[in-house]
Amino acid sequence: MKRRFRLEARVLLVTLAASVAACAGRGAVRFARPQQAMRMPPGGLSPQQVPQFVSFGSDDNPHSGLAASGGGGGMHYLTELFASRRNPAGSGDARNFDGRPPHYSFYVNTKYITPEGEEDPALVKQSWAEAIEHGHEIGVHTHSHPHGKQFSVSEWEREIRLSIDHLTQPGGLDVARDQLSGFRTPFLEYGNHTLTALQRAGLVYDCSIEEGFQEDQDGHGFIWPYTLDHRSPGNFATHRRFGLPLVREHPGLWELPVYAFIVPPDELCEIYGVAPGLRTRMKTKNDYFEADQGKITGMDWNLWFEYGMSKAEFLATLKYTLDLRLQGNRCPLTVGLHSGIYADRSPEQPPNATVQERRDALHEFLDYALSRPEVRVVSARELLGWLQSPAPLADREPVGDARTSASLGAGFRYSVFNPKVEPDPAYWARVGRDMVARFPGSTPEAIWIVSRIKGRGAELSFPVADSADPLISGSDGEDRNEAALSLFDERGYRVWLQVEPGFASVEKLIHLTLRRYGHHPCVVGVGVDVEWNRSTDPDAGEPVSDAEARAWLVAARSYNPQYRLFLKHWLPDRMPPTVREGLLFVDDSQVLPSLDAMVEEFAQWGKAFAPAPVAFQFGYPSDRPWWQRLDDPPSAIGKRILAAVPNTAALFWVDFSVLEVFPPGRERPKDPLVGSRSTSASGRCPACSPSSRISASTACSSARPSHPIPSFVAWHARRRWRCS
Ligand SMILES: [Zn+2]
Repeated sequence: MKRRFRLEARVLLVTLAASVAACAGRGAVRFARPQQAMRMPPGGLSPQQVPQFVSFGSDDNPHSGLAASGGGGGMHYLTELFASRRNPAGSGDARNFDGRPPHYSFYVNTKYITPEGEEDPALVKQSWAEAIEHGHEIGVHTHSHPHGKQFSVSEWEREIRLSIDHLTQPGGLDVARDQLSGFRTPFLEYGNHTLTALQRAGLVYDCSIEEGFQEDQDGHGFIWPYTLDHRSPGNFATHRRFGLPLVREHPGLWELPVYAFIVPPDELCEIYGVAPGLRTRMKTKNDYFEADQGKITGMDWNLWFEYGMSKAEFLATLKYTLDLRLQGNRCPLTVGLHSGIYADRSPEQPPNATVQERRDALHEFLDYALSRPEVRVVSARELLGWLQSPAPLADREPVGDARTSASLGAGFRYSVFNPKVEPDPAYWARVGRDMVARFPGSTPEAIWIVSRIKGRGAELSFPVADSADPLISGSDGEDRNEAALSLFDERGYRVWLQVEPGFASVEKLIHLTLRRYGHHPCVVGVGVDVEWNRSTDPDAGEPVSDAEARAWLVAARSYNPQYRLFLKHWLPDRMPPTVREGLLFVDDSQVLPSLDAMVEEFAQWGKAFAPAPVAFQFGYPSDRPWWQRLDDPPSAIGKRILAAVPNTAALFWVDFSVLEVFPPGRERPKDPLVGSRSTSASGRCPACSPSSRISASTACSSARPSHPIPSFVAWHARRRWRCS
């Protein structure tokens, strides 16, 4: 029995340690290590490895919302709202709050639990105690909510200590002193004296300094929470731009900033459910609003009252702000609230939203956030615990969105512009079926090319109405994609629509393509052939920057928030350096001497982007000399890739040789595949077809010189040509 008891004690200790590490417990929490202000997550983790934290912090909290108070809403409403929700399940890791109840923080003015308050202090006290019982975090917002700009340190200390006393005394709220960690200043008015006083009072973090108003920050890459060992970048920016007091170092004090919300720009308004021109409308409310940046103080009061937003506008702003985070560095999103604004007894009414609409907006945003698998709604204290001991999401956790954890995609690449291939939808549906048959559990997936280089720009394979852009043209009245996409809808395909941009605007091409085909359920996103990015020479395609990748993804997601973007090249350095969320990295390396060489190169590609998903195109004529000898080339190549590259999301046989490998009217090729070995120097690839495009290339450098190069490949290597 004794042994058993010891075992239990040890389990208990381990559990305790874990809960302190995750800061989920209520014991004393120390935040000792300084944390530099950085745009990358702490602990050397990449944005794709970390949860997207959303932390609600409610100020003042004068209304209980309990039945006896004569009006609903307020604190009781907030606690009930959270009680009926759960964080996304993830892999069940407690360190990342997987599947745990979401929590909020609330910073109180203790005058509301005295006769100075607006409601029966006993009821207010009861509603605060109820929130604490549900695991929500109580924090200090002073006793009397003063304007403290001119306060001395001792004046601040008096306000803070008075508040702490009311919260901890047996006649007050009677909470343990070590439950109090955080402070927010009234009216966001702070200075050095404020921060000094709250440190002296033994508080651990401040959440009063605004971050994100720096002109070079657009909501994708705000600075993660930091300690004030080296001052505050957000404070420096607002000091310079808006004349706020400059604060100095406050070593060890954590800053969990009030991050700016970002109002959606015109081109995205409709997808977020509001009429275009929202930023212009906000500008009429406040002249200092900067319409080009769209930033607003990250608190509900500013949206409802200062800018007089409607429910739809409030929701659009919060959803857009969260989506930018998810597409960017996953900096935690703090949402400043006032539970009183959601109370029936709220004495003030904003101009354009009823109390019911305000509540609906809040719960709809909470549900929107919790619908994203990466989001974890946590209290500020829980967040700080994680920041001190950051844990990566489990390897197998969905990256970007749930699609990437879906089944392997198996299919083909098709180009309407390859004249050798008849665009017969039934044939393509069969090729997809045949590929899926080779990979049990896979889903038919296709790359469907809808634009090619024409001159310096792009020609689309469907009619383009009144394109005033000289770099973009359409087909003459004929739509060459619709029938196939409709069939793919029926057959449960996943289809990527790929563009080759040249010097044409990629965003415009994405808009034209998705405006036309975005209604097809088979469409899962768009692809960009980076070999033709700002170039008419596929070897000179320019690398994609992080900002470009995000902008393209935003353009695609303006049609469907689930859409993703694939980028294709064979050189990893042409891919965006850090952006991973929502991206699929497609490698089309070719002119390889053997299957081993291909697998080796593809494995490097996979590693370069892991854990983000990657995909591969193969079956190029330049590689025919070795793949034609394989028993079943698509299966043999695909299985080797899957064994070597664990983050493979899809396999595509390319159009150049699809007719040979999947002959029309037959299930499988009967005859051995014979490739042309012509060494014609006509400028056409002898192996593909006289009509396929060939271009001067350095791609053959991917055929490693240490490998024996068959004569056919050597031909390509000498010519430095490749199929795009
Ligand atoms: Zn306040």
